[in-house]
Amino acid sequence: MRLVFLGPPGVGKGTQAEDISLKEDIPHISSGNLLREDVEAKTEIGLKAKAYIEKGLLVPDELVVKIVVGKITTEYCKNGFILDGFPRNLSQAKILDETLNELGEKIDKVFYFTATEDIIIKRLAGRRICKSCGANYHETFMPPAKIMVCDKCGSELYQRKDDNPKTISERLRVYREQTEELIDYYKNNSELAEINCNGNISEIHKKIFKEFHSQSRDEREME
Ligand code: ADP
Ligand code: ZN
Repeated sequence: MRLVFLGPPGVGKGTQAEDISLKEDIPHISSGNLLREDVEAKTEIGLKAKAYIEKGLLVPDELVVKIVVGKITTEYCKNGFILDGFPRNLSQAKILDETLNELGEKIDKVFYFTATEDIIIKRLAGRRICKSCGANYHETFMPPAKIMVCDKCGSELYQRKDDNPKTISERLRVYREQTEELIDYYKNNSELAEINCNGNISEIHKKIFKEFHSQSRDEREME
């Protein structure tokens, strides 16, 4: 299964991707996580990407494409992947299609996640992440038992540098300006399932699993 998770920042696609990835044994490829690893490791790409990420802007295509295409063409992804945060503009989507085309593959399904903007802003502004295991929490919606300490591994939690009100509104603006047009692109070129994420995590889970296990259009046509 080659899946794309599309939707605004803060809609919860990372949390959901992680979950499906574990349950269905499909690699979760998050462009944001890959970029942050490069920033942390101070690689050449990371050093260039840092300022864009901190401003809430898209990292230039040539840097992101290198990382993501590099990853999905490895042995690790040969049976499929969940792409989370990529593509984020039309040219990335086209590069992705071309890359898969050359391998004789294609995107099987696109999950398009939606939520109202006030919910998104609250989710991002209250998000806390574990420094060592990466588990996600929310100050009020999903608080850890002990303030700023991870329930799973006991390490300290932190807030992402781009999860501040000013950068959040910039990320949402960039999403509307550059990423939103991918919805039409995938409506025309792939199979797109819309998942409304205004509810709680377990409700959203159920909707995704239902979609995930529903027959794909190709399978129906083959019968
Ligand atoms: P979110 O979806 O919550 O904004 P991500 O972790 O997906 O968070 O991305 C964080 C930042 O990383 C983005 O604001 C952007 O700067 C950069 N980034 C991630 N994916 C891409 C991409 N496909 N193209 C360009 N920049 C990206
Ligand atoms: Zn932890």
